[in-house]
Amino acid sequence: MGDKGFLIQKPGFATTAIHAGQDPSKWKSAAVVTPIVMSTTFKQPAPAEHTGFEYGRSGNPTRNALEECLAAMEGAKHALTFASGLGATTTIASLLSQGDHIISSDDVYGGTNRLFRQVISRLGIEVSYTDFTDINQVKTAFKKNTKLLWLETPTNPLIKVVDIAALSRLVKSQGDVIVVVDNTFLTSYLQRPLDFGADIVVYSLTKYMNGHSDVIMGAAVLNDDDLHKRLRFLQNAMGVVPSPMDCYLVNRSLKTLALRMEQHKKSALTIAQWLEKHPRITEVFHPGLPTHPQHEIAKKQMTGHSGTFSFRHSGGLEESRKFLSSLQVFILAESLGGYESLAELPSLMTHASLPAEARELLGVNDTLIRLSVGLEDVDDLIDDIEQALKQAFE
Ligand SMILES: *Cc1c(COP(=O)(O)O)cnc(C)c1O
Repeated sequence: MGDKGFLIQKPGFATTAIHAGQDPSKWKSAAVVTPIVMSTTFKQPAPAEHTGFEYGRSGNPTRNALEECLAAMEGAKHALTFASGLGATTTIASLLSQGDHIISSDDVYGGTNRLFRQVISRLGIEVSYTDFTDINQVKTAFKKNTKLLWLETPTNPLIKVVDIAALSRLVKSQGDVIVVVDNTFLTSYLQRPLDFGADIVVYSLTKYMNGHSDVIMGAAVLNDDDLHKRLRFLQNAMGVVPSPMDCYLVNRSLKTLALRMEQHKKSALTIAQWLEKHPRITEVFHPGLPTHPQHEIAKKQMTGHSGTFSFRHSGGLEESRKFLSSLQVFILAESLGGYESLAELPSLMTHASLPAEARELLGVNDTLIRLSVGLEDVDDLIDDIEQALKQAFE
């Protein structure tokens, strides 16, 4: 199933996603499908004695089953879930203290950028932004108080691919710095950052992992016991936990992750190749295309690419508006990773919270369109793009 030249998928992924943490014998009823346990409190046989669960914030059986499954899918020891992807980010940032320093990639997810710029930095934690595709820039960004490196690959919306192994090596040579990789765009099916030296993998499960656009949730996956203990404490102490109902939905969705990602991958590449040949399209940012500047790095650390990529056309803001409002199958909306195809204009939507200069510097202008290619028939998606481009440029 591997794409040409990309890493070979480890065997057993789908089996793990379906069975890990789901053993029916852990329920008295022997339920095959993990039950939704709504109870917020659990009976204790004697004061301060418990049978694994005390109170729903500190632990819940449905949540535990999901966390076990997430860890196994990543080949990791531990996983923790949070009320949202940004809840996971907030919790990880709370490992740090006043006076510490974070290095973040410059085109990090808009919400992460906003959290770092407008909340975390107010708490006396310094954040600098660097282009992680240039390792020398990262080197010079290090300070004595650097404690954490936050990277996303591929980045959003410009789909730059960052060399996780090279960056992790550099970071480890600089001292005790935690490497966090936001793996939302690829999922554990397409990229396993822990294998390349990362310490924590963070997810917005809201996107591909859940894949049905009906849950907001986040996760952190890791091997280190001490970091896990500290994050487990923060998960409970800060109260950033997801609901049992949502845990049920995500756990259910993981059972089809491998199948869904294969289809996202195939359809997105087909559309990217079609766009590359279109006379109105000037650039296509997709890591599966040999023209992508980091195509070689992508093949080294990914088993393939997902359904999200972006492109630029030869018009201006007016053409972008016309194109987006002419789409019939693609829905004009933020987010990505669901079964339904979405299209958006990052400059006015997902990345509007970035300062204008930062947008300009990154190249997030009004002709850059981001697609999240869903699971519809690919011919219908291409026909839709074709007719919308015609309307935009008529
Ligand atoms: C959506 C997203 C987040 C934030 O996740 P929420 O679940 O919306 O809080 C973080 N990182 C990336 C790459 C995302 O796409």
